[in-house]
Amino acid sequence: MDSVESINGQPASKKVFIKTFGCQMNVADTERMYALLAEKGHSPTENPNDADVILINGCSVRDKAVHKAVSFLGEQQFLKVNDLGLRPDKAPVIGLGGCVGQLDKGEVFKRAPYLDFVFGPDAIDQLPELVDRAERGDRHFVQVEFDPTLSYSTETKIQGGKSAAFVNIMKGCDKYCTYCIVPYTRGREKSRTIDEVLDDVAKLVAQGVREVTLLGQNVNSFGKGNPNAKAREPKELHNPIGKVGPRAGDENFNQLLHAMEADPRLARLKRIRFTSSHPLDFSDELVSAYGSKDHGGVSKLAKHLHLPVQSGSNRVLQKMGRHHKIEHYIEQMNRLKALCPEVGLSTDLIVGFPTETEEEFQETLKLLDVVEFDNIYAFAYSPRPGTRASKLPDDVPNAVKNDRLNRLLKHQLKIAERRYAQRVGQVMEVLVEGMAKNQNMIAPGQNGRVWTGRTTCNRVVNFIDTSARNYAHQFVPVKITASTSLSLSGTLVHDADFAESLSQGSLLQ
Ligand code: SF4
Repeated sequence: MDSVESINGQPASKKVFIKTFGCQMNVADTERMYALLAEKGHSPTENPNDADVILINGCSVRDKAVHKAVSFLGEQQFLKVNDLGLRPDKAPVIGLGGCVGQLDKGEVFKRAPYLDFVFGPDAIDQLPELVDRAERGDRHFVQVEFDPTLSYSTETKIQGGKSAAFVNIMKGCDKYCTYCIVPYTRGREKSRTIDEVLDDVAKLVAQGVREVTLLGQNVNSFGKGNPNAKAREPKELHNPIGKVGPRAGDENFNQLLHAMEADPRLARLKRIRFTSSHPLDFSDELVSAYGSKDHGGVSKLAKHLHLPVQSGSNRVLQKMGRHHKIEHYIEQMNRLKALCPEVGLSTDLIVGFPTETEEEFQETLKLLDVVEFDNIYAFAYSPRPGTRASKLPDDVPNAVKNDRLNRLLKHQLKIAERRYAQRVGQVMEVLVEGMAKNQNMIAPGQNGRVWTGRTTCNRVVNFIDTSARNYAHQFVPVKITASTSLSLSGTLVHDADFAESLSQGSLLQ
């Protein structure tokens, strides 16, 4: 297929559209796909109807997410069917990837014969060849192999002009929580080396990046399975419970944070974030990284932690195969808050797990009061085929699950509202992401534009500016004047005021 038109005798670049579902790993993978395809001359488009290549980066963590990916795929079929085709002369190549592609392994061709190929997360670096193959007319091929003998090495690819970037530092998960499909879609834990991550981040900083988010399914077990780790007994690597993180003497996540802080090439890097973590690997050393520098603190570490807890009941946690106790989680959070009172906390929760009682759900509500999260990501349980939990009776009725979810979210809104209101009057440093989608903050007849960004504590801040200045990707001080349960808003502080706030110690990051 050659759908490329000629402009002044030069071939126009082909266009690629990628639809992303799911977590930040998928968002980072999409960024990498765009960058890899840009190297072979494909430029991004926001409209699938214009695209020569359509890729779907699907998430399989919940039933609903899989349906969304498959239904988006169904919506693209008219671009491929000649009789109905919008552009029958220019039918795009279509590929299905991410965890949905990994699990599906090509079954979907029966339902969606217009789909060209299926690929898993481990095949992303081969994407340019896979697209070439499909463009040459090869159809219905599948690339989902994991090679367990290969060590994990990669280089972050971003499109230019960004101040924030995702950096994959490890992949896979050995935890095998009973409800989770990820260990089957992303494979076993493998890490990059500290040296490789430092070189990678140094290149990003040289390109203007000032904030990185270190990514992995379980970043706190970073070091496990990297080429510098000591050899292990095979039975230790294939522990079915998968509780074993890096061992003494192996590289670990805390060392990585300190190495990033010390590397002079990273001097202009301002913030390090990370996600996601498991309470078992969230070590005491890591809690100390949030403290002051003379007590083991890492000053570039953002004052935010996303630590999934999933339930407030020990019995439910045990059924989920989480291997941590709620008392231990609360203890970790209390230590963290004592060291870093301004830290912003968020978590993941599942309600209606098989056999969860009303009393056990109440324990989850109580946990929200005790920890005081800024934000929660909560879901009603849905079984994922192939997981251990899918063999348990899904005995909490949907109406009860939905009722618990609504009560949980309402409860959290009140907590968040109170916590956000505490910020009014403070000056916070904001990394501006760009203009806000919603410009409603501008009153009728008022001039200006609404900008949006995040504080170090990961709180969204919107502010109005009446100048023509472009604040995208800048760090700016904002005085908070109002709050909701989801975001803060305020006014830009003039530099002199900002300096004064700093000297008086009243600036919060
Ligand atoms: S820690 Fe548990 S929930 Fe998280 S990716 Fe691993 S198996 Fe899934």
